[in-house]
Amino acid sequence: MKHEQKARRWLPRLNPSTMVNDSPHVVILGAGASEATMRHGNPSAQPIPVMNELVNHLELPEELPAEWRKLLGANFESAYADLAADAGFHLAAASIRQQLRGYFERLRLPERVTLYDELVVSLRPKDLIATFNWDPLLLQAIHRNCLSSPPPQVVFLHGNVGIGACLQDRQLGTRGVLCPGCRKPLEPVELLYPVRHKDYDSAPVIKNEWSKFRETLSRAYMVTVFGYSAPVTDAVARDAMLGTWRTNGTRELAQIEIIDIRPARQVQKTWRDLVVRNHSVVWRRLSSSHILRFPRRSCDAFAMASLQCAPWYDNPLPRFRQLDQLHRWLEPLLEEEARGQFSGQPHRRRG
Ligand SMILES: [Zn+2]
Repeated sequence: MKHEQKARRWLPRLNPSTMVNDSPHVVILGAGASEATMRHGNPSAQPIPVMNELVNHLELPEELPAEWRKLLGANFESAYADLAADAGFHLAAASIRQQLRGYFERLRLPERVTLYDELVVSLRPKDLIATFNWDPLLLQAIHRNCLSSPPPQVVFLHGNVGIGACLQDRQLGTRGVLCPGCRKPLEPVELLYPVRHKDYDSAPVIKNEWSKFRETLSRAYMVTVFGYSAPVTDAVARDAMLGTWRTNGTRELAQIEIIDIRPARQVQKTWRDLVVRNHSVVWRRLSSSHILRFPRRSCDAFAMASLQCAPWYDNPLPRFRQLDQLHRWLEPLLEEEARGQFSGQPHRRRG
């Protein structure tokens, strides 16, 4: 009896008659995800420069010695951490922060369907996207799809230029929108810059985002890491993720997917502490992931295959150019969700 109770505690919440699994799918995004989003379907698109390149285009204050510019261009994370720690360069660090914020604020998603659109429509409100990115592209994707399909939750682990907060009324939302409490516009939130000893608890908004991330990760049944290389400078983030993951009761059964363009062996080395036995797979593209092969059903399909031994046929999200085509394709899935009964049937071919 005791043994049975223990065994049950490890099972993800699958209802075999409705085939609905309420366990969350957690997606962790890094800079590589925004980069892939801007390039997707448009190889000639201007790529988002990585931080090391971007810093070479900033107007750095004249008093900053030339060697600093070189250091920042070679390894922004570590050079910025040193610069910010030096009281003599206080103004230079502030100028870098202001210019980077301006750059990210100007970024816009193209009109066509992007990877971020595909990602947000393929997850449900029980799921969570945790992003390290400062750019507002994911938020833009959520805004333009949320009326057609209920989006996943999202947390910004390093802050974001698109969000605003009212600390007094404990409100977080789109920057500039009026706070429902005091009716003043939500103020920009601080971006978390690389520092030697990152203190995720020092900024209240970011602290909140992290606790929501940890709580959801501790219950996750699937985890997808997309374009995030877990930089060694961010040991705090890495330890927080791994520490939480170890408390996850379904970890032995859970599946981890890593979407990364680096060689698979290198990727596996980065994430070896995260993976239990062989429950992980590395893909080069998001389209190979469970998320886009079973849109809005990733955990349900995985549970049916692995717990019930009744795998579903793939129902891959077709590549559309226009958002309204994408939204029309999703309708049968949303109807099933309204009924609370899943069929596991792929969409019939149309046309
Ligand atoms: Zn307020």
